[in-house]
Amino acid sequence: MRLPESTLIRRNASSAKVWGKFILAIANAQSELELCNAVANYLPKFIPADRASVTRLVSDGSAFEVFAVNGEKQVLEQGQRLPFDQVSLQAVITTQCSHVFEAHTKSVYFDLVELARQGMVIVVHAPLMISGQAIGSLNVASKTKALDQPDTIELIEQIATLLAMNLERHWLHQQTQVAIKRYRSYANQLGILNEIGRQLSAEITKAGVFDVIARAISQVVNVDRVSYAVPTSDHQGFEVFRFTGNSYLPTDIVIPAANSGLNEVCKTGQPVFFSDLTDQRYSEHAILANFGLKVGWSVPVRVSNQIIGVLNAASSRTDLDGQEQLDLLTTLGGLMGATLERIAMQDEAAVALQELAYRAHYDTLTNLPNRALFSQQLENALAVAQANDQQLAVLFIDLDRFKSVNDTLGHTVGDKLLCVVASQLQQVLSASNTVARLGGDEFVVLLPQVTQLQIVAQTAQNLLKMLETPLRVDGHSIFLGGSIGISLFPGNGTTPGTLMKNADIAMYHAKAQGRNNYQFYDTELSTKLKQRIAIEHALRGAIANDQLSLVFHPQINLVSGKIDGLEALVRWENSPLGPLRPDQFIPVAEDSGLIEALSNWVLDQSLCTIKQLRQHYPHLYVAVNFSAQEFATQTSLLSRIKMALNKHQLPGSVLELEITESVFLQAEENTSQLMKALKNEGVRIAIDDFGTGFSSLSYLVNLPFDTLKIDRSFIQRLGHDPRNDGIVHGTIQIAKSLGMSCVAEGVETLEQLAYLQQQMCQNCQGFLFSKPVPASQLNSLLQQNLYPLLTASPGLLP
Ligand code: C2E
Ligand code: MG
Ligand code: MG
Repeated sequence: MRLPESTLIRRNASSAKVWGKFILAIANAQSELELCNAVANYLPKFIPADRASVTRLVSDGSAFEVFAVNGEKQVLEQGQRLPFDQVSLQAVITTQCSHVFEAHTKSVYFDLVELARQGMVIVVHAPLMISGQAIGSLNVASKTKALDQPDTIELIEQIATLLAMNLERHWLHQQTQVAIKRYRSYANQLGILNEIGRQLSAEITKAGVFDVIARAISQVVNVDRVSYAVPTSDHQGFEVFRFTGNSYLPTDIVIPAANSGLNEVCKTGQPVFFSDLTDQRYSEHAILANFGLKVGWSVPVRVSNQIIGVLNAASSRTDLDGQEQLDLLTTLGGLMGATLERIAMQDEAAVALQELAYRAHYDTLTNLPNRALFSQQLENALAVAQANDQQLAVLFIDLDRFKSVNDTLGHTVGDKLLCVVASQLQQVLSASNTVARLGGDEFVVLLPQVTQLQIVAQTAQNLLKMLETPLRVDGHSIFLGGSIGISLFPGNGTTPGTLMKNADIAMYHAKAQGRNNYQFYDTELSTKLKQRIAIEHALRGAIANDQLSLVFHPQINLVSGKIDGLEALVRWENSPLGPLRPDQFIPVAEDSGLIEALSNWVLDQSLCTIKQLRQHYPHLYVAVNFSAQEFATQTSLLSRIKMALNKHQLPGSVLELEITESVFLQAEENTSQLMKALKNEGVRIAIDDFGTGFSSLSYLVNLPFDTLKIDRSFIQRLGHDPRNDGIVHGTIQIAKSLGMSCVAEGVETLEQLAYLQQQMCQNCQGFLFSKPVPASQLNSLLQQNLYPLLTASPGLLP
């Protein structure tokens, strides 16, 4: 800066030297105060001044602060605050220009009054301009009027400028220092955060996470206690999960949510700095305050955006920067939540992995080993058997009536039943045997170290016996029955694959043998299985291409000698596998899901035939066999029958359904509903093969049957076994007493007929009257007079 040489040099010869010192003092000033003092002290050396001061506007602009003073100290001394509108200084601020005032005891400005009292006459204020703003002023007062010279005022203004520039320099320096300090503290915090980030990534327990976080808080903030509180399950309170420091709030008490600072944080979701724990605002703070804690922080901890707990810190110090620490705690709370979330996810993943590993080897319903594990176990057992030159056996078990239980009683009962079977199987078997579930109703057993085939057979028998006894599930008593196929190592295979396949084939054979039995594998069996597959394949085509045919078997009324009805029986004469009997292909149809299509075809053909015959024989009915399985899967049966009747424009009374009794053992509720619906249509229902299943009086009484068909086997034994005759007699009586009609099946001899007549059995069906005949022969059959046959019998039984 260039100084007005004229004034300076003329006034004071040594001023150049003084000026140099002044500049040095300004340059060396270590603080704003030193700087202002230097200016105030040196100024009177250049100009005719008796007093110099620096005043600065306080930050809210309401007053001036006297910053540095040279001269009389008693008045307007350093540190004193001068209200803005009561002092002349205000003129400088409002106009941002220098002002010259006369000091006067009567002045409106009290600074001028004070200065006048000190003997000052002239006062000059020059603005301190920083960044275009007047932030205060350099003030000079003199006891003489000499001050009021343009040169002098100009000099004062220039020194004010010099001061302002240096003040600005100091400010910038200070700001830089603060920024550096801040930066260092951030860097320090960042370092700590990095470190705890590292520790947290290795941490796997909730408590461990808290400990790391608590350690970090203690490092950064001067706190006496850190705690983590979690809401109780009913959200009525908080439990202290873990804490550091003293046990003011131990972990075993519940802090009521109402009126707690913790609840405040949970409700608002905002971190809070509690600047005074002694203010009694929140219940738990009172306890902390009692122990000398003064301030506290609480921040929410979130997992998946849900607040799961509150992280708290408390300190006995009051000089901490609450807001800055709150930011830090919020960051740490966030880090804690993220880590807890990661741990939860890891835990879930670990559980899922365990679950997957379990599922890979165990059946989740019954907890038995599954196919994969069984194969492994079989493989191991095979290695042992091979090494010790021993035999082993694989038993394949299929539950006979599981499907119909599932269909009638529902999957829940089905599932429970499988569990019951699983545990029963384990009870029957010894600990050295392995039982596994392959899926559905298939179980498999491994008998290692077989010394005698007899033991294998005995085990199979024990298993069947168990399956024959009714199993109790949900109040139902269920008769399942099972079929078992057995393969042996080394005779029937040396690998798990072949042994299981051959046991499976043997099981099919057992089923074909009428179920509820066991079969050892023999090579012929696989041929039978192939045949079964071939039947299924051919049957599909046969149904689609109308290659099946029907024959009709008359049911003769023993009183009138007339044919009351005709039982439709399916035939498959020219199958690619040669003529097949219904009992050879009906089970295949049932197992392969073809039964519905087959029944539809039979029903349609039967109704077509009966429609024609009824033109001459209006009371004739047709009896159609339905598979028990179809009756159990009731969903479509009713609508299928209604549709067929509709199609042929026939009343339901032309139709009688023949069903075997196994259906009626279970799910009486559903079955009775279906039966009632059928009855509403006029359709009648007959129990076929009565006596061969699980004849039970209860279902006979409870369900609305129309007809009871005594199985052929009883009729054929008539006259050979009094007990058998008693059963036939009893059955006829039961039918009569329940108001049902009775049909005796398989009547081949006059003796049998005579006995049935004697017992007043209503209807008969059998080769004695006729073999089942194709529809084309029905007219002549119906015209035959059977009466002589009925009267021919002498009624003799051996
Ligand atoms: P089922 O309903 O008990 O039919 C009676 C069976 O006994 C018929 O054999 C019939 O030919 C035979 N039979 C009748 N009277 C005599 C006799 O005096 N002596 C002898 N030895 N046998 C006699 P089939 O036709 O071989 O039928 C066997 C079983 O196949 C039937 O038993 C029935 O359960 C089933 N079935 C036949 N046709 C169908 C059908 O269309 N659908 C369904 N689901 N099953 C059918
Ligand atoms: Mg029948
Ligand atoms: Mg029958």
